[in-house]
Amino acid sequence: MRAARMHGYNQPLVLEDVPIPDSKPDEVLLKVTAAGMCRTDVQLVDGYFRKYAQPSFPITPGHEIVGVIQKIGSTVSKAAGLQEGDQAVLVGGWGDGTCRHCQRGDTQICAHGQWPGFGPYGGYGEYLPVPARYLIKVDKRYNLKAEQLAPLTDAGLTPYRGIKKLRDAGALGPNRVLAVLGIGGLGAYAVQYAKLLGAGATVVAFARNAEKLAVAKDFGADHVFSTKGKSLDDVRKELTEATGQGEIDAVIDCAGAEEMIQMGFGLLSVAGHYSSVGLVGDKVSLPLFPLVAREYTYHGSFWGNYNDLSEVIALAQQGKIRHAVKPIRFEDINKNLDLLRTGDIVGRVVVTF
Ligand SMILES: [Zn+2]
Repeated sequence: MRAARMHGYNQPLVLEDVPIPDSKPDEVLLKVTAAGMCRTDVQLVDGYFRKYAQPSFPITPGHEIVGVIQKIGSTVSKAAGLQEGDQAVLVGGWGDGTCRHCQRGDTQICAHGQWPGFGPYGGYGEYLPVPARYLIKVDKRYNLKAEQLAPLTDAGLTPYRGIKKLRDAGALGPNRVLAVLGIGGLGAYAVQYAKLLGAGATVVAFARNAEKLAVAKDFGADHVFSTKGKSLDDVRKELTEATGQGEIDAVIDCAGAEEMIQMGFGLLSVAGHYSSVGLVGDKVSLPLFPLVAREYTYHGSFWGNYNDLSEVIALAQQGKIRHAVKPIRFEDINKNLDLLRTGDIVGRVVVTF
């Protein structure tokens, strides 16, 4: 099979022919039909995660995966209802099944977890073995294309969980402003979930790139603001003109860049909520007093679990999610990693096999 693999940090992926992996009796062999390309893949190649984990090479990146079931292991429960030829998306955060997070279903934050796309197998290869319990079937009669489905497993999942946290905390509702920071792969979905889950909140989007802001507007943001070259006061003035208030009540941060985080907290209202899913920067410096005295709440939100993804897939099947995707060929993976690195991709590029 074809696979684009990482043999070390800071070098292009090697596009090579490798054996199709074996699958164990309790696993399913998935034939990948599409894999989304995420900025996290660039960070993996660039060594961003080095201080947190030391994987062994080669690594096959690609953690946004949809495929077709090629082979079902002999001990996979019939109750799973899986058949060869079924189309399924893959939940990416695999837990050990024993810890309290796994017991609640939050396998993606298991301390002993494994993630496809960060080890030997990932979506940039044509086949991978997966535990059956992390597959969610998507009936082909919904006519969702593989390049639309793959990004839903991360870009279209991560902001969904982040916004659910804001909703569950009571941060959303009428006469409140919910801001989406950063309109990259995740932000294009975030503005849609902000409208779907916002309980009537006004949805505003902030980004540096005009083309990305146009996507946010098209996908339902009530107001969009360019932050390029603007001070906090400039942005506050524009926000006030558009919404009647110079503060935001809740933030879903899909960027995670230091200046953007400082701007988000700088605009946050008393008792505001900040949900973080983006990871462009590495650290952030914030004044402590407002965090305490203004009673801010910070929600770290990581990827999504099986239930989150089931909800996202249901919304997609009902036609409630719009997709900004661009299918690319396997041969063009390295070129597109470079475009992701410079932030020059609007929406999501997806490798299709
Ligand atoms: Zn666990």
